[in-house]
Amino acid sequence: MPACSGLEHHSQTVIDGSHPTTQAKFESYPSDAVQRQVCRRASEINRIPTYDARMAPPRTYRVRVLGCRVNHAERREVESVLRDRGLKEAVPGRPADLEIVHTCSVTGRAAAKSRQAARRAKQARNSTLLLTGCLVGSNRDQAELLTGNPSHAIGHDLPMPLAVASWFDAQWANGNQKPCEKTEESILPLPLAAMPNQPANHVRAEVRIQDGCDAHCTFCIIPTTRPVLRTKSISTVTEEVERLVDLGHREVVLAGIFLGAFGHETALRRRQQHRSAEPLADLVDAVASVQGLARLRLSSLEPGDVSDTLLSTLAAHPEVVVPHLHLPLQSGSDRVLRRMNRQYRVADYLDMVDRATHALSRNGIPPAFTTDIICGFPGETTNDFEQTVAIAERVGYLHMHVFPFSPRHGTAAARWKDQFVPDAIRTERVRHLIDLETRPDGLSERFRRRLAKHPLRLLAEQPDPHRSGNWLGRCDHYAMVSVKIRCERGDLVRAMATEIEDDVIIAEAETADCSLPMLARH
Ligand code: SF4
Repeated sequence: MPACSGLEHHSQTVIDGSHPTTQAKFESYPSDAVQRQVCRRASEINRIPTYDARMAPPRTYRVRVLGCRVNHAERREVESVLRDRGLKEAVPGRPADLEIVHTCSVTGRAAAKSRQAARRAKQARNSTLLLTGCLVGSNRDQAELLTGNPSHAIGHDLPMPLAVASWFDAQWANGNQKPCEKTEESILPLPLAAMPNQPANHVRAEVRIQDGCDAHCTFCIIPTTRPVLRTKSISTVTEEVERLVDLGHREVVLAGIFLGAFGHETALRRRQQHRSAEPLADLVDAVASVQGLARLRLSSLEPGDVSDTLLSTLAAHPEVVVPHLHLPLQSGSDRVLRRMNRQYRVADYLDMVDRATHALSRNGIPPAFTTDIICGFPGETTNDFEQTVAIAERVGYLHMHVFPFSPRHGTAAARWKDQFVPDAIRTERVRHLIDLETRPDGLSERFRRRLAKHPLRLLAEQPDPHRSGNWLGRCDHYAMVSVKIRCERGDLVRAMATEIEDDVIIAEAETADCSLPMLARH
């Protein structure tokens, strides 16, 4: 979840020098005040004491990760930091010398799962437990109790890989590893603490391009756990993507806590300077031009992010940018959206969907839309919920992440106890939306039927455990496809969709090729 659903939220023509002023702006965007605040915190972290000098440096690590795409992207960054320091991933089933739990606290359930993972990791004897991420930011006392050592709980005061590098070097720097420097320049914009250095385990990699949110949706704890907005420079992102492609990844997902705040000091659009600049579109243009990258996705966008410039940039790279957008709705009622403090209304949302459909339709097939919806927000009436159902039917989502409202301590909505919707109604509304999507002839099947008899392109991800000789992979429209073919993991397969079995499209293979271009538009 958020990267921007509060649950799961989530661009350069610049590199070639065609927009040098935009590039210069990204490199210097953070305000002096924000830089001073972060640097003060960095110097505090520098003073973290070595907790036990008698302990030998760890040789193996394990990272357990919970939560959103940004957390998963951070996991890869943290692993690169550890591998740079000579550590190897622990063998599955064996304890690691260093156990890291990268936590999530966006819902009560996610926080409980994070605590459970920490307790399980702590059972490993002779291991050091490091707790990182949003649970630390939302409840530091509890996190310190879980680790048993205050310096072994790291929130988001610093970019995560930099914080872990600093922590590790403070504990065990041995002269071979240059301690991570925390100068103003290395903190902001969002730095790359270590280049990716691990061969691809998955064909798809998340690249974190932005961190932090200050939009303060009334249900979301993220502005507390990740309050500082940071942006990677376009050249850094491009370099990272080139390296990931060299390591064998075929698809990249650009992820951020608030993707549309990429290149801005704030996620609040009314306060953004340089509103006419289109940094995300510039980044997409640069990344889509990386040689060897087969597919590019964006993690999450909302109406204020989806400008005509961004849409035309997405449409200008039909061979790489997929026709799929994740557009968190949260509610189809303006009354609820206002109380959620969202920065759009239903009409803005539908206008975005219509513009994206017009710009990204291919061969008569509209783009796929996925979304996040919260059921039972405090004060949500039956009529509000019916409006949400009507919007879901109007948009025709391929998939909806549906969550019951979960009060998070420290947020405004958690204080509106007198308006809480009873548990049973929240659960029933969730069930209703899941049924709307997944039942026979439901929203998902209706969209996937539109793909039938059309040529699809999919990325072979794993052998199909239910169909002998078949491979499974997501097509460009994000639907799962099973195809009978002899191929390698990571191959691009062109196939013709023939039928739908449950949640999988069955297709007949035409070709498998590492360099197969995506379908031409129209
Ligand atoms: S507060 Fe920020 S991260 Fe949370 S849901 Fe709102 S926009 Fe997304």
